[in-house]
Amino acid sequence: MLDLHLHYKRLGTALALVMVLFGSTRAFKHYYSVEQIPSELAANPTPPVAPIIEETTLTLASGGSVQKLLTGFGVNKESALQIANAFAQFVPHNKLKSGQDFNVRYKRSEQGVEIESFHSQSSIDQKIIITKADGNYISKAEKIHLTPVVHVFEGNVHSSFYSAAMKAGVPTKLVQEAVDVLSYVVNFQHGIQPGASFKILCNALRNDKGDIVKIEQLRFVSLKTGQQDHKLFAFTENGKMRFFNEKGESVVRSLLQTPLNATKLCVTSGFGMRRHPLLGYNKQHKGVDFGAPTGTPVLAAGEGRVVACGWSGGYGNRVHIRHSGGYETVYAHLKFINKNIKPGAAVSQRQVLGGVGMTGSATGPHLHFEVILNKHHINPMKVQALPSLKLTGGSLKKFETVKSATQKEMVDFIQTKAVA
Ligand SMILES: [Zn+2]
Repeated sequence: MLDLHLHYKRLGTALALVMVLFGSTRAFKHYYSVEQIPSELAANPTPPVAPIIEETTLTLASGGSVQKLLTGFGVNKESALQIANAFAQFVPHNKLKSGQDFNVRYKRSEQGVEIESFHSQSSIDQKIIITKADGNYISKAEKIHLTPVVHVFEGNVHSSFYSAAMKAGVPTKLVQEAVDVLSYVVNFQHGIQPGASFKILCNALRNDKGDIVKIEQLRFVSLKTGQQDHKLFAFTENGKMRFFNEKGESVVRSLLQTPLNATKLCVTSGFGMRRHPLLGYNKQHKGVDFGAPTGTPVLAAGEGRVVACGWSGGYGNRVHIRHSGGYETVYAHLKFINKNIKPGAAVSQRQVLGGVGMTGSATGPHLHFEVILNKHHINPMKVQALPSLKLTGGSLKKFETVKSATQKEMVDFIQTKAVA
């Protein structure tokens, strides 16, 4: 190729003309760049090599130190110690965690590896930079600029709300918070149809590269399934943050729709429940069944007092709780009942009663859950438990403002994303 290029000079004018005729601008440019190759470089294509500065990322192994990491990379002991000490001025040795990344720029020579600069993030908003000056390594901290932003996660539920949210990138803590607020109003197994859509809006921090580096406050969660469209808004009043529905009613209900740790619940009744003939509520089957892995924590649906607990024929291990307003709840087929759950004991909402099992006449691990109102069994999925609080007056006005602002932020985020 190079030999051919050398002949271009003579062919120059003619070739340029041909290229213009063919309309190949790119080739035309290339032709001139070839013309400009310095003759000495063409004659001797490998100029004398200065040590090339390379870059790489070193990751701290478990139990490792900065010094060991560097000597292992080929840096001499003295320099490695200097760099380690410079870094320790900001991050003490004992605060280092395995998996920490260090970006290094270095030169490799016969003497070994020489570090030019070394930097690592010490927290989400600070990085430590070590540079070489007059043969010594000096360190400084640099603030990483973070911008508060709103972030929206979206997804569709196929097997479980929990796994769909995780798949959408929602951090675990935020998923748990969303599950907790939705548990009051959604039956996470029978109340969600496959394909249901959700949105989760939260406050977050973004770095200059555009990456979300920290998720802060959950501010809105919606779940749309069939005819139902749950929209829950965070609203802070007197320093207390609570979730409310669109009407300004507290999401906290006297009874949970899902009296289980919902992270383990699939929207189809799996877990060996296929042969169970009675999944839904009817005259013979006076409750709803939640198929869940053995041992899944069973939660008290509401505050109340234990009426009875222990073995009860086909129910297996059963807990019966009386609540206010004429409500009672029953939890059956438990693998075990917690020791502090005894007749007469007071229980709080979400208190763990025991674990899912298949005791009694159960054919697979599941929770059989009944709701009784004024001595009559009612369909737990149709319970209209009362909200603990309903906003009125000035509070409701403030809430309406927050609600509109949140909805606008949601629309803005989705539109911006669509454009990008
Ligand atoms: Zn049942």
